[in-house]
Amino acid sequence: MLLRVITASLFLLQLQDARSVLEKAARIMGTANLKSLEYSGTGAMYTFGQAATPYERGPRFNYTSYTRLINYETAAIREESIRVEGENPLRGGAEQPLRDEAHSLQVLGPRQVLFTPHGFIKEALKAGSASVKSDTIEGKKYDAVTISTDGKDKVIGYFTSEGTLEKIRTWVDNNVLGDVLVEYSFSDYKDYSGVKFPTRLTTSQWKVPVFELTVKDVRPNVPADIRPTQGQRGAVNRWWDPGAPGSPQLKQGTAVPVRLSEGVWYMTDPTSGSPHHSVLVEFKDFLVMIEAPTSEARAEELLAVTKHLFPNKRLRYVINTHPHFDHIGGLRRFAVEDIPIVTHRSNIPFFEEAFSNPRTINPDTLAKSGKKAEFIPGDAKYVITDGDRSIELHLMQNLEHSSGNYIAYLPEEKFMVEGCIYNPDYPNAVLDPPSPFTASLYDNIMRLKLDIDLGIGLHGRVFPMTELAKYAGRAR
Ligand SMILES: [Zn+2]
Ligand SMILES: [Zn+2]
Repeated sequence: MLLRVITASLFLLQLQDARSVLEKAARIMGTANLKSLEYSGTGAMYTFGQAATPYERGPRFNYTSYTRLINYETAAIREESIRVEGENPLRGGAEQPLRDEAHSLQVLGPRQVLFTPHGFIKEALKAGSASVKSDTIEGKKYDAVTISTDGKDKVIGYFTSEGTLEKIRTWVDNNVLGDVLVEYSFSDYKDYSGVKFPTRLTTSQWKVPVFELTVKDVRPNVPADIRPTQGQRGAVNRWWDPGAPGSPQLKQGTAVPVRLSEGVWYMTDPTSGSPHHSVLVEFKDFLVMIEAPTSEARAEELLAVTKHLFPNKRLRYVINTHPHFDHIGGLRRFAVEDIPIVTHRSNIPFFEEAFSNPRTINPDTLAKSGKKAEFIPGDAKYVITDGDRSIELHLMQNLEHSSGNYIAYLPEEKFMVEGCIYNPDYPNAVLDPPSPFTASLYDNIMRLKLDIDLGIGLHGRVFPMTELAKYAGRAR
């Protein structure tokens, strides 16, 4: 009983302490009378999960303009930006090469307001459940104020002894990495008519930067009538047009098998936007799936359709073409069925680390099963064969899209399966100059002397080699 009283008073003390930290910050930063704020500047973003090698930052895009208008009373943000390609030569995936300006306009909700300097203070003061403790990050001491938005979900704000908010940390679920730390950092605060706002904003996710902004202009308490709106121009990943002739109208997430030849099935994804296909290959005594993209739900679809087509054959392997997150998201579901993952050996240390990360926010079927994914490391060439049919995996060289990148070659059928490196219907797939990734794909095929009739795109569609040569800038 006594212990409970002590615990309760300690808890109360904590709440009061958290409140005093927040109230001090609100005073120092000028939060109390702030109803809205607009900030703008220039910077960069790095697409997460699309890096050229698994441990480096994602491909860079520069913001030539970036403006956010925050309405704290309605907890809404209007975000408008213009992005351009950020590096040459290109590294990594996402929508590269991005030849034009990508315009984006979106309205974000309360969750994103929480991850802004004044937004956090306002929400934490309202939350009533905030607690505080001392914490040290990179040698610097902070008052770390934790708010839990729903039991499981944790958001921590780090305040300096002067009372400015320098960091916010939270954890989000990711199909590949499980629980992922997201850290928002605010520095170089300046005063704008009594309101303090950082002139340097950065965000990192897991171990890499994803966003950085140098603020040029801050305007507190501007009119902020934010209405739901959404607009994108220039960088829409529309590789499959559901309205185009021949495109089936099917619900998102369905895996639609298209028979390309005896025993080779294109497991298409009718999703508009950026579809992710797979290829199912039948051998005498077993089956092989090339690619398990996006998510557990997509993997379940693929497994169900495979079972329907071949009720009595076992899926023996799943092949991963490269370690971009859109090509990995379904692999863990295959591991639940004890199907080993074939990938280039350079990818395996990353996969093993990613797959053993904690998954407390949204445990998937593999996490719940307690099983471990099995990896089969391939070298520059890896062959799966039953004597009649084979799949040859060939490692790409000089490809800045992704390291550890396999294409699959079916010599009997003269088919070649590739992921991401030639996307025929991609809006920015302009011919002149050709995409360096497509050129690299073509040059690798020539180097390997592969005799190909038909290319099978894991994002796009099937295409003849003559078309690939043309888009690679290698047509004679
Ligand atoms: Zn991709
Ligand atoms: Zn890729």
